[in-house]
Amino acid sequence: MEKCTKYNKFSDKAEEFIADEEIVQTLQFAEEHKNDAGLIEDILQKAEEMQGLSHREACVLLDCEIEEYNARIFQLAEEIKQKFYGNRIVLFAPLYLSNYCVNGCVYCPYHAKNKHIPRLKMTQSEIAEQVRALQDMGHKRLAVEAGEDPKHNPIEYILESIDTIYGIKHKNGAIRRVNVNIAATSVENYRKLHKAGIGTYILFQETYDKRNYESLHPSGPKSDYAYHTEAFDRAMRAGIDDVGLGVLFGLSTYRYEFAGLLMHAEHLEAKFGVGPHTISFPRIKRADDIDPTAFSNAISDDTFAKIIACTRIAVPYTGMIISTRESKAVREKVIRYGISQISGGSKTTVGGYETNAADNGSAQFEVSDNRSLDEVVRWLMELGYVPSFCTACYRAGRTGDRFMEFCKSQQILNFCHPNALMTLKEYLEDYATAETKKAGDALIRANIAQIPRGNVRLVCERYLHEIEQGARDFRF
Ligand code: SAM
Repeated sequence: MEKCTKYNKFSDKAEEFIADEEIVQTLQFAEEHKNDAGLIEDILQKAEEMQGLSHREACVLLDCEIEEYNARIFQLAEEIKQKFYGNRIVLFAPLYLSNYCVNGCVYCPYHAKNKHIPRLKMTQSEIAEQVRALQDMGHKRLAVEAGEDPKHNPIEYILESIDTIYGIKHKNGAIRRVNVNIAATSVENYRKLHKAGIGTYILFQETYDKRNYESLHPSGPKSDYAYHTEAFDRAMRAGIDDVGLGVLFGLSTYRYEFAGLLMHAEHLEAKFGVGPHTISFPRIKRADDIDPTAFSNAISDDTFAKIIACTRIAVPYTGMIISTRESKAVREKVIRYGISQISGGSKTTVGGYETNAADNGSAQFEVSDNRSLDEVVRWLMELGYVPSFCTACYRAGRTGDRFMEFCKSQQILNFCHPNALMTLKEYLEDYATAETKKAGDALIRANIAQIPRGNVRLVCERYLHEIEQGARDFRF
């Protein structure tokens, strides 16, 4: 395989670790080999070792047109998910703090030129109220979201909000992990976020295609492609070792984005010894003044499923996330191919979790799955998954390479599985409807036997009993 000379995964420069020429050559190579049974067989044999694939290899699988091999790709993705993540699905909710924004992103209704969308920013007491509402639903893990606006949403505001969120202890509730999705910032600010105890720092690249990136971000600080693309390097240097990648599918061709995502993952692994903690899979949705049909690179549900399966195979240890941008039907279709986290009961409006809140018009995008968290939990169980509210790894210091080692050594059945069952039990005791509780208790009984180590199984059983008696927050 001919390699592009500018491409260097160890480089600090975005244009070298995401070298356009390397992506173009990769896509050409994949196109030329999409029916090359010998090569695809070799790649699949390597993939079956479950150690991951290079971006070039994964791109060949993404393009593969041979039906029999495509069936193997989907099957292998399911096997890898089962091996490293089991049947657990972790649940979270987004919390929109403020939609003030100075950027000009053409796909986002928060863009600065949108003069009619209500601009809202929550006070600390409003945030506390939202957090109580989220805790009353049963959430333990949030993704904090905000527009970029140095005047309205400075880092001090984000830090104070994180503090408020962690500080609310309402009934048996607690938010135990706050992930943060805010605009690219400085090493100094990442240090402050790290000190505030954030979980994952999430930043969507939106698109890896620099030319498209520049036309889709015509104004504001986000228009600087290199500053945005190098953000995780700064976050890592500041001590944040769990970072979450993503592209907004629909902005550029999915093949380009897929190659870019994997090259970004390879860069982080090469440079910092730890790949991305998560990859998110958002697709453009209708929103205030945004018409998704105006973006010509939209992908079908089948292509979406193939991207998810090929990502699972390429980066077996990375968590994979889909949000309520996707409908129940799409989620049902793709979860099995590698998704490990989903949001539930989400609102994308600022202040949207108030009980009986009228839609205040501040939403970032239309949600396609409007079910309550309880309905999502029950649905997951009906599909054979164990809904999990676990936050143990991060709280036990298993982040970055320590998490990856943990995942690779497959300790999940001895740790993650009991943790999932115990956090599900907390949910059932405190928040579930009678029907969900009945189904959940039966599921826990059936799943306990799968904990391999006898002593862990016994301790887990004791903890489950204590949760029933009112104790909370056990973990392995
Ligand atoms: N302002 C921060 C930034 O620029 O990175 C935070 C991100 S924003 C709150 C969360 C993400 O929503 C964006 O990164 C973008 O990918 C996605 N988004 C924006 N407009 C969207 C739309 N119309 N449909 C679906 N997702 C959208």
